[in-house]
Amino acid sequence: MALSGVQIFKLLPKTNCKKCGFPTCLAFAMKLAQGQVELQKCPDVSEESKKTLGEASAPPIKSFALGVGEKAVKMGGETVLFRHDKKFFNPSALAVNIRDNLSDDELTQKASEVANSEIDRIGQKLRVDAISIEYVSNDSVRYETVVKLISSKAPDAAIILNCNDPSAAEAAVKAVVQRKPLLYCATDQNAEAMAGIAKTNNIPLCVCADGIEALSLLTEKVKALGVEDIVIDSGAKTAKEIIEHNTQIRRSALKKGFKPLGYPIISFVLRDDPIFEAVIAAVAIAKYSAIVVVSSIEKWKNLALFTLRQNIYTDPQVPMQVEQKIYNIGEPTADSPLMITTNFSLTYFIVSGEVENSKVPSLLAVMDCEGLSVLTAWAAGKFTATKIAQFIKDSGVGDKVSNKELIIPGQVAILSGALEDKLEGWKIVVGPREANALPTFLKSKKA
Ligand code: SF4
Repeated sequence: MALSGVQIFKLLPKTNCKKCGFPTCLAFAMKLAQGQVELQKCPDVSEESKKTLGEASAPPIKSFALGVGEKAVKMGGETVLFRHDKKFFNPSALAVNIRDNLSDDELTQKASEVANSEIDRIGQKLRVDAISIEYVSNDSVRYETVVKLISSKAPDAAIILNCNDPSAAEAAVKAVVQRKPLLYCATDQNAEAMAGIAKTNNIPLCVCADGIEALSLLTEKVKALGVEDIVIDSGAKTAKEIIEHNTQIRRSALKKGFKPLGYPIISFVLRDDPIFEAVIAAVAIAKYSAIVVVSSIEKWKNLALFTLRQNIYTDPQVPMQVEQKIYNIGEPTADSPLMITTNFSLTYFIVSGEVENSKVPSLLAVMDCEGLSVLTAWAAGKFTATKIAQFIKDSGVGDKVSNKELIIPGQVAILSGALEDKLEGWKIVVGPREANALPTFLKSKKA
């Protein structure tokens, strides 16, 4: 049963030493009761209290990894219903479902698509994280062979063994147990056998039921059978069901401390129409699914879902920013153009990408504007003529360029006159308003 903040406070050392990052033990206890901090943050809590707090101090949504190694995906551990309350911690894993009745060539092709799905977007590596291997052949030997083949062709992807038959599942688990696959799934009919496989091999198990009530009864049963790392599937398939079920599950876990639903959610959104599937997958990402399984991956779909996922799981209170400095793009010389922009990550990566596309070696001065984009920084008084002039002087970039020409973003053309006054000896050139016009602009300057 969940303990109140005051009950937890009584079990803490009450020294107000602040080592946990909170000013008092009571403040820490209140946060612990809300599931917004972990008990380990207090280094002085006694073993006896740790035992008493036990389940009450565990995060409201169980946290563990899908897969192993550097590219394992952390799931669960969420503490809020709404992103603006704090932030969402662990981005949804994106998985593709592959059936075991395809030919070896088709399986290899699909696994390779996953292995090569990684892209770099504003400094983060984004990829399809997992492969769900579905048992449809009804041939356990074939299933095991397919599992081995796919896992060898996509060595970094997490594996979901989508197989309701315990005997076929057991052999497949053994074949890839070092990859810590997620076993999908335990139902009312096979719960004992599947829980036994998961427990023996120390792998996570998905519990699958029709509706939330049946699901919570089954997770309790599977937990009692000794499985700790559980993923849940309420059977939600439509957008309406996903929103309703996932919201109810998250709310029950966070607000009521209802442990049988305090687990990461998996959503299978398989559709024949890839556009419709992308829409349903987007709903699942936006509404709390820890793993979203689609039937196919295409570059356009990946990009849309990666971008949505990245936006939702970015901390809204911390602007994404890059370091203030003069960046070399290509191998600039003293005659290379010099541009300036702000240190909002998206701005930096878009501008630097377009400059790279131009193939004109350049210098890019990135000024710290607290992670704001050009127009926002200008409107907030952080990207003004005075501040830009100071930054250019302090950076020493004037010693690197022979022509003393600074290209400013077209959005802030209004600053050119004032900047020329403040940067004596410099010529200010107004660049394009949009970054995608930079290649043409730079090439025409060079000509
Ligand atoms: Fe209290 Fe522990 Fe925090 Fe110190 S570290 S203030 S003892 S809760």
